[in-house]
This record gives sequence, structure tokens and C-alpha cells, in this order.
Amino acid sequence: MSSPDLLIVGSGLFGLTLAERAANEHGVKVTIIDKRSHVGGNAYSEADEATGIEVHKYGAHLFHTSNERVWEYVNRFTTFTDYVHKVYTNHKGVVYPMPINLGTINQFFGASYSPDEARAAIAEMAGELAGSDPENLNDKGISLIGRPLYEAFIKEYTGKQWQTDPKDLPAGIISRLPVRYTYDNRYFNDTHEGLPTQGYTAWLERMADHPNIEVLLDTDYFDASQPLNKDAVRGQLPVLYTGPVDRYFDYELGDLKWRTIDLETEHPETGDFQGTSVMNYADASVPFTRIIEPRHFHPERDYPKDATVIQREYSRFAEREDEPYYPVNSTEDRESLLRYREMADGEPRTLFGGRLGTYQYLDMHMAIGSALSMADNKLADLLRR
Ligand code: FAD
Ligand code: UDP
Repeated sequence: MSSPDLLIVGSGLFGLTLAERAANEHGVKVTIIDKRSHVGGNAYSEADEATGIEVHKYGAHLFHTSNERVWEYVNRFTTFTDYVHKVYTNHKGVVYPMPINLGTINQFFGASYSPDEARAAIAEMAGELAGSDPENLNDKGISLIGRPLYEAFIKEYTGKQWQTDPKDLPAGIISRLPVRYTYDNRYFNDTHEGLPTQGYTAWLERMADHPNIEVLLDTDYFDASQPLNKDAVRGQLPVLYTGPVDRYFDYELGDLKWRTIDLETEHPETGDFQGTSVMNYADASVPFTRIIEPRHFHPERDYPKDATVIQREYSRFAEREDEPYYPVNSTEDRESLLRYREMADGEPRTLFGGRLGTYQYLDMHMAIGSALSMADNKLADLLRR
């Protein structure tokens, strides 16, 4: 095997985007290695063996973006369906629309508030916190939607997801979730959304489909028995590393904390288990956070009418051997991260990118957008060094 011009560690959307840019814009030879046995990182999906239904192996992935450059870019590799994501939540055995909107509010209070009446009622329920901008999630939640709705839909769900008292979590986590005083219950606010028409894997594989791109699976950067390992390559070849930053430095400054999820797959004997793709479970008395029924992501497909597949999602802190999914981002984590970043800046001929390499929660469009910026601003220099 001849040596590539660029080695990319990790075939997730960040690595694939940079590989595609390097091959097409710079005409260089790229090798991507991934320790998993497939490309695509966490966005990978596969057909469920029993039903043929496309299942997102690492948790439900919904594509959405308002970034025109990213939208144009992803459409080079796939078309998107017109799927619009909607979520419902089960609280004490009753199902409500999420995110919290006028429908949720009126159903919860058995009322028929107009938008103005609902705003006034909720400001009153938020009490002294109304309109304030608290830093912890608990107070932020109460200030946004008042105590009764916060306690029903946010408090216990968030507690299950983070295993941390919401008083100790940053407010930013729920700022992602809109509150609407209309009946609009679309989950995302973005200009574009949809699911890849032929599935995630077809999209992701197409990104790597280039004569200058070679993909080596089941190949770990830290495995000394494979030729493109860190000790052999460091300083010798330009490298983009998209694995966990703390792992790269052998956890020298301690472990950055992550949450992971466990998915429990089941095949209930029905053609439709819950009538929608995602049902959240708001109460602490139910141990899982949500149930995904992937057939509903593709109503346009010809899936079996008498069989389905569901995934129950459980959330917990990750150990080293688990898949790191969501950065916990405690004050301690942020301090170590700054020091890891300094170390990363000093690494010879190596750039760090992606969700794991930068210890940042990135949606797919953010990972792609950030890889495109890296290709614009840093790739030429990396290849020259
Ligand atoms: P990853 O996809 O994690 O890819 C990193 C790759 O590096 C992996 O394939 C890994 O195997 C490989 N790797 C790591 N270490 C090594 C090593 N030592 N040697 C070789 N290879 C290595 N985004 C959305 O836009 N919408 C959603 O609905 C959404 N839902 C999500 C749900 C879950 C449960 C999770 C975890 C993420 C979700 N995301 C969603 C985010 C999305 O998965 C990320 O934006 C995307 O994965 C980022 O790509 P990446 O390349 O940075 O990282
Ligand atoms: N959230 C909640 N109840 C819900 C849905 C979301 O309390 O029914 C809160 C929770 O704190 C969560 C955050 O809103 O972490 C962001 O929700 P999102 O659905 O974006 O979480 P993700 O899909 O990333 O797990």
C-alpha cells in the first residue's frame, strides 16, 4: 500500500466531508480509517433483518439545516424526502404534542387560551422568574414555561436524560427546544429538513466514492499492529483526527465526561406500534426516555403492513468502553478541554475535528459546516506542511 497524502481518522460526516474536499478540490490521495466495520459514524443506518425497515443504529438522526451552503453541499450526494419531524410526549398516560405549543398548553390546562391569554397565564405561573434569564436549567425552564408545565414535561425527562439535578445543568440545554404560542408543532425551526431518500448509508458511501479515496474499516488509529497507527504516522503524514481528544492524549489530563445511550430493540406483533416516529416519556416512573418507531420516518416506502420494529432509548453516563455520544460539559470538563486543546494545537501535522475531536455537540449540518470551513481555511496549509 502506498502512503496517502492525507490520513483521516474517522469516517463520520466530518471526516467524509474533509476527505471529499481534499480529493475533489486538492486532487490528493486520501485514506480514511475507521475502527468500526462501516462508514458514516453515528449517522449510519441499516435495514432491520426481520422487517427490512431502515433503522438508525446509533439513535434517531433527523437532518435539518438553515445553512444554504450545507444544504447545497449535501444535495450533491443525496436527495431528501419531505419528512417533517414531530414529537409527542406521554405524561401520566396522556399524550401531548412537543415542543410545548398552544396545543400542549390548552390540552394540559383543559383550556382554550388564545396566544395572548396563554402568554399571560404562563407569565403568572413563572412567578418571580418570568422573563428573567437564569443560568441553570431548572430556573430557565420555569422562566420560559412556568412551573406546572416545566414539572410535567421537562424536569423528570431531563433528569432521566442527564442523571443530574436540572439545578446543576446549564440553561443552554433547553434553549434548543422552542416554546410556541401557536399550534405549530414542528420539532425544528430550520429552513430545510428531510431524510435521505435512499437512506443514510447510501448518502454516506457516496461521499467516499472517489478514485482518490480509500476507506479501511476495522482499523484503529491506536492499534500498533496496523501500519497507519499513531506512532508510525505522527509527524510523518498530514492527519485529520476525529476520534475523542482525551483518548488521543492517553487521558493524560483525565477523562472528559460523556453521556451514552442504550437502545433496546423489539419487534412488537403489529404493523404500527405508536402511530408516530418518536414518543417521549416525560415521567421518572418510566425508565426509558423515548421510543423510536423507524417505519414512520419513511411513510413513502413500501414497508410490511403487519410487522414493525421499535427502539427504547435509555440514557446514562458513558464509561471508556462505551460509545461517547453527548458531551456532559461540566466546569471541570471545560477546564480540561482547554488544556487538551492547547496540546492538540501543538501536535505535528495533525488537525482535530468533529464532535469527538472537539468535544462539542454538533448536529450533522454543524459537523458538515465545520468541516467545510476547515477545508477552506486549514486544509491547504496542512497538506503543504
Ligand atoms: P462521528 O459520527 O462520531 O464519527 C467519528 C468516527 O470516528 C466514528 O465512526 C468512530 O468509529 C471513528 N473513530 C473514533 N476513534 C477512532 C480510532 N481510534 N480509530 C479509527 N476510527 C475512530 N445530528 C442531527 O443533525 N440530527 C439528529 O437527529 C441527530 N441525532 C443524534 C442522535 C444521537 C444518539 C447522536 C449520538 C448524535 C446525533 N446527531 C444528530 C449528531 C450526529 O451524529 C453528528 O453530527 C455526527 O455524528 C458528527 O460526525 P463526526 O464525524 O464528528 O463524528
Ligand atoms: N427536553 C425535555 N422534554 C422533552 C424533550 C426535550 O425536557 O420531551 C429537554 C431535555 O433537557 C433535552 C433538551 O430538551 O436534553 C433537548 O432536547 P432534544 O430533543 O434536542 O434532545 P436530544 O434529541 O438531543 O436528546
